[in-house]
Amino acid sequence: MIDSHAHLAMLEPAVRHEVLARAHDAGVTMILVPATGREDLDAVAEMAGEGDGRIVGAVGFHPHEASRCDAAWKRRVEGLLGSPGIVAVGEIGLDYHYDLSPREDQRRVLAWQLALARERGLPVVLHHREAWEDFLAALDAVPGVRGVAHSFTEGAAGVAAMVDRGLFIGISGMVTFPKGENIREAARAAPSGRLLVETDAPYLAPVPHRGKPNEPAFVRLVLEHVARTREIEAAALEAETDAAFARLFLGGR
Ligand SMILES: [Zn+2]
Repeated sequence: MIDSHAHLAMLEPAVRHEVLARAHDAGVTMILVPATGREDLDAVAEMAGEGDGRIVGAVGFHPHEASRCDAAWKRRVEGLLGSPGIVAVGEIGLDYHYDLSPREDQRRVLAWQLALARERGLPVVLHHREAWEDFLAALDAVPGVRGVAHSFTEGAAGVAAMVDRGLFIGISGMVTFPKGENIREAARAAPSGRLLVETDAPYLAPVPHRGKPNEPAFVRLVLEHVARTREIEAAALEAETDAAFARLFLGGR
């Protein structure tokens, strides 16, 4: 069982150690840790490089941090992309809900990172919120990029738009929320082989842990809920999502 999105680089080392032990006990075999920007780029590269292969990383600038991504930081991201265990460019995208960076900066930094990923032959980890039209336009400007639209919330039509563009769908613990009908719709609509599960830890803890810090061990709750939604066995979904993750991020390994 793989957690395809957990921000473990944001945790204190002692907490992270405990969280990783619980993930191991829960049967989590691999975790993808995305970076968000200046604060955690180095920590992600360090974690991905030092582990026993159970942690892989993505480096990039989250839309919240886009305005900080100057020429020096771009060189830093480019350099870290060659590090051991770094398998993707991420977390990148557009967030017009919080608008923590000017939208112009968000679009510019996303376009640069999509082009960089294509140039390096790496997949991307995509974030989007309240920016759907611009998000699609950014993707269409750089055809051929592979990746996952993480913590997906757009429902069945949105799933089709992503799948048509060759992208995967990441389902988070929001699928367990009473008001998460759009997420359950997405979880049903995603074709087998294009679906990943994730926690987005430390955010978005699934039921019954809502309001508490999320952690990769809880990805089992996400997986079980998605399996019920798709009316298949959890073990079968686990095999499917693990294989999809390997195909996208590990070159089929
Ligand atoms: Zn994230």
